[in-house]
Amino acid sequence: MPVFQARWVLPISQPPIRDGWVQVEGGKIVAVDGPMDQSDEPVERSSDEPMARCAILPGLVNAHTHLELSWMRGQISPAPSMPTWVERLMALRRTVGHEPSEPIRDAILEARAAGTTLVGDITNTLAAYEPLALSGLSAAIFRELLGFNVIDSAAVVAQAQAQIDALPPSARLRSSIVPHAPYSVSPALLREIARAASGDARISIHLGESAEEVEFLQTGRGRWQTLLTGLGVWSDAWVAPGSSPVDYIEQHGLLNERLLAVHCVQLEAADLGKLAGAGATVVACPRSNRWTGAGVPPIERFYRSGVRVAVGTDSLGSVEDLNVFGELALMRQLAPAVPARALLESATKQGADALGFGDQLGTIAPGKRAELIAVRLPEGIADVEEYLVSGVQPHDIRWLDAD
Ligand SMILES: [Zn+2]
Repeated sequence: MPVFQARWVLPISQPPIRDGWVQVEGGKIVAVDGPMDQSDEPVERSSDEPMARCAILPGLVNAHTHLELSWMRGQISPAPSMPTWVERLMALRRTVGHEPSEPIRDAILEARAAGTTLVGDITNTLAAYEPLALSGLSAAIFRELLGFNVIDSAAVVAQAQAQIDALPPSARLRSSIVPHAPYSVSPALLREIARAASGDARISIHLGESAEEVEFLQTGRGRWQTLLTGLGVWSDAWVAPGSSPVDYIEQHGLLNERLLAVHCVQLEAADLGKLAGAGATVVACPRSNRWTGAGVPPIERFYRSGVRVAVGTDSLGSVEDLNVFGELALMRQLAPAVPARALLESATKQGADALGFGDQLGTIAPGKRAELIAVRLPEGIADVEEYLVSGVQPHDIRWLDAD
């Protein structure tokens, strides 16, 4: 029965334990505790290299990415505004017939090397399904629908469900159907997706990402309207609701504790309060927001509002790597008043809970899967939690072998 000991153990569900240990059996956590006193039975030490200068923590959760876009890495330059970035992305996507799978496999390996154990993966093509099934990652797979001018919403959702039903089952993957964003999905399709979501199904939506989205919902005009018209999918039947992004999705049945509201850069305090009241989760992706021109997310306001906060990298089309520790480092910069402990909880427990894996992952606690990482610590750090949100790199991370 392996026992891993380290200078620090971060269970997340309780404060960091100095000179802690984690006992593991059959791939599951059996016990976690602090230093043993003289009366304790001596524990069998793991044969691992000395871990004196390490911190053990649960594998991280990347609650928002698009693995199928991994081939776009470095090919879309940072944009001054989000519609400009989207135009660049669409032009690039039109140059290929399908999403190449080798960059997806590389991205999964990269995510693993950076300590990630669970992803919320947005997909239009399901191209990442098989690579994910063959990898060590767990995933909430979000089969995303777009369609501003859809004639038969029920048929579109039924077709997506049939695609999901045809996938080979995998114990670590769960799939659900989700809408892209308020400006790209018709009201009828939003309602149909909400209606079709069964029991425990998680729904993710890009929400309050750009100022142009807020403008669009208020006035029905602006650059999203121009883009939809240019694509030939504008609908004259659409009437601007004059509501905020959160009010809008609430009107269409999407606001509940199973919602992941991704980005939320442009949300006012009232909208954040509403998400908090519903038990929904905000997924912060600040590096992507900077890249796409969406703006600077109000990270401190997220935490002040009491809403659950998870962390996502977004796709390699708008971020330089899939290292969640890199995302945490920017969150720390943007929100110096938020405790490092809260940021770490966002990148583990909050993400696992939001994605529906909270019973298995996200904390170091008896009964959970022993998907644990050890982060090498430099000499003489004063605050282990602060260190862990300062931008840990993959060469300082390794996975603990729980078998
Ligand atoms: Zn996204």
